[in-house]
Amino acid sequence: MSPRRISRPVRVADKTIGGDAPILVQSMTNTDTEDAASTASQVAALARAGSEIVRITVNTLEAARQVPEIRRRLDAMGVRVPLVGDFHFNGHKLLTQVPECAIVLDKYRINPGNVGHGTKRDDQFSTMIEKAVEHGKPVRIGVNWGSLDPELLARMMDENARLPAPREADEVMREALIASALESAAFARELGLPAERIVLSCKVSAVQDLIRVYRALAARCDYALHLGLTEAGMGSKGIVASTAAMGVLLQEGIGDTIRVSLTPEPGGDRTREVIVAQEILQTMGLRSFTPMVSACPGCGRTTSTFFQELADKIQGYLRAQMPVWRAQYPGVEEMHVAVMGCVVNGPGESKLANIGISLPGPGEKPVAPVFVGGEKTVTLKGARIAEEFQALVEEYVRSHYASDAVRREPGAARAKTIPIQASPS
Ligand code: SF4
Repeated sequence: MSPRRISRPVRVADKTIGGDAPILVQSMTNTDTEDAASTASQVAALARAGSEIVRITVNTLEAARQVPEIRRRLDAMGVRVPLVGDFHFNGHKLLTQVPECAIVLDKYRINPGNVGHGTKRDDQFSTMIEKAVEHGKPVRIGVNWGSLDPELLARMMDENARLPAPREADEVMREALIASALESAAFARELGLPAERIVLSCKVSAVQDLIRVYRALAARCDYALHLGLTEAGMGSKGIVASTAAMGVLLQEGIGDTIRVSLTPEPGGDRTREVIVAQEILQTMGLRSFTPMVSACPGCGRTTSTFFQELADKIQGYLRAQMPVWRAQYPGVEEMHVAVMGCVVNGPGESKLANIGISLPGPGEKPVAPVFVGGEKTVTLKGARIAEEFQALVEEYVRSHYASDAVRREPGAARAKTIPIQASPS
């Protein structure tokens, strides 16, 4: 893995994007911001799932007026996640006409392709930057392939056409994206916004284009970079495309914060994009958020779905505990649990985990050895293997990760002793 690219750190309320800060996970709501109750509720769900910054659309006067109410509701719920306002077309008016909105937001996102045309464009962009300067807010200058400044693109296409050996149109488009971000950042600095308050993004929807654009952008500036594949899509396609693009860039040390732009399935859970972003960072070894469960894929040796259900149950259980465990059991997010389907790879993989179980395949003795720290400790059998293994995981967490404060709590020692109906190995 390449060393992390050196970028300027940008403070966003109590978080830092860039510098040597951890790569942050971001997300965005899809509620109507005019509906403060549902927006605050979704922001809280995203934050509880692990989103470290949450962006909300601010597209109407009423939406801008509701931003302080959204913040008030979040504070009342004890959710202090920084809020970013996403502005297009009328951001200059909203930030001017609703100063409370401009004050309450922790960061503004401005798309330079969606702020008017000609001199109007410069005026509108200037007004938003001036508001950021006035209120001491950082700004993400977020360029997007689908809304690239048409005048800039036309100018660059004309210049290209006059070259003795013109470049391909898609190469000029990529260059225009980068130019839009860098020229807008330079203009923002002329208006008084310090470089330490600027984050850049250049989002496109094709994996190879994103990699090319960010490599070039990263080489040409030291601004903090927000990574994301725009319009990644739905389900596995969106996850795979985002992971493929961001994995390459993160491996090269490029990227200070990420967002996975998944289209939710109808009725799907918006927090999925947060979990995917966390899993990208964790499986690459860049950060740890939740204990990871290794499970084998299953094969003809496992005719039952028991081990799949157990792996799913344990992963869900671990994730559900994290809001409490994060504070009580420091380091637990690095725990590794293995749930394996038979004796072929089961014992080996389980020994490599902090705690692992090797379930019996068909024709094997109906017992499930448990390994803790590489050693076989107990062998579970009977109808309650799942519950007993979960209790052993809980016991492992309590005995290996309890902070000194938790250890001193009355009853903490008793809590370590969980009765397990298991055969000694
Ligand atoms: S561990 Fe066993 S059940 Fe799982 S994939 Fe390997 S051989 Fe199949």
